[in-house]
Amino acid sequence: MNVAIFGGTFDPIHHGHLAVARVVRQQFDLKTIYFVPADIPPHKQKSAFSPYHHRYAMVALATAGEKDFIPSLMEAPGEEALRAPSFSIETVRRFRQRLKRSDRLFFLIGIDAFLDIAKWREPEALLRDSEFIVAARPGYSLADVAKALPESLRPREEVTRPFAGQAARGDMVFGDVTLHLLPDTHENVSATQVRSAAAAGRGAQRWLPDSVAEYIRKTHLYKPGHGRSAAGSQAKTGLHVVARRRRGRHEDK
Ligand code: ATP
Repeated sequence: MNVAIFGGTFDPIHHGHLAVARVVRQQFDLKTIYFVPADIPPHKQKSAFSPYHHRYAMVALATAGEKDFIPSLMEAPGEEALRAPSFSIETVRRFRQRLKRSDRLFFLIGIDAFLDIAKWREPEALLRDSEFIVAARPGYSLADVAKALPESLRPREEVTRPFAGQAARGDMVFGDVTLHLLPDTHENVSATQVRSAAAAGRGAQRWLPDSVAEYIRKTHLYKPGHGRSAAGSQAKTGLHVVARRRRGRHEDK
């Protein structure tokens, strides 16, 4: 059985995410894709984002009509005092525990997010524990993908130089690490674009499933003064407690 994890902030989930998931489902014969909103995205701790329950609700609405797309609470906030950034390696390990040895686990990620992979927690282990599917977005090349790998896995520059202008597609295998590069799905939209259109009262519907657009309209989620705040103020003292307990351990950023 083939299963994929699709993690993200999903603030909000949009047609770009869904288009990629549909292509991947078919190409990799996936039984299930778990959409996993992060409680506190490690790389976005200093930015503002909407509370988890809103982001999860929108993921649930957007995936309701697709039987193979499952909204996952795997990175849902714990008790206030235990709230901590959601590290992908921990999520992957928790999913692995539920699968059989023969099952294939894929980790779906956009190329822009992949470029930071070397700064994530235990990147080598993460890359070995699941097969990565890296979805192209306009403007990135095959060489960018190779250069983003953690140093111990990165091919020498002479090897990647010829691919500098080449679109990222096909499979790359480095020892026991496999990267599948997915061509651009041409849904050139980002959540940032959706939020600023919604905040300005310009229609963001064209980038969203109707149910999500309606949810945003009803909750005024992206109107100034509604909903969004940085991790520090969302987790309050909880993050401090965890940060102190984890002192000395490697953090994502
Ligand atoms: P933001 O604009 O707030 O940074 P985003 O649109 O990139 O958000 P995320 O929730 O951060 O959305 O994305 C989750 C994952 O989906 C990331 O790996 C990201 O690269 C990927 N992704 C987002 N939009 C697209 C798209 N249009 N095409 C391909 N991948 C995408």
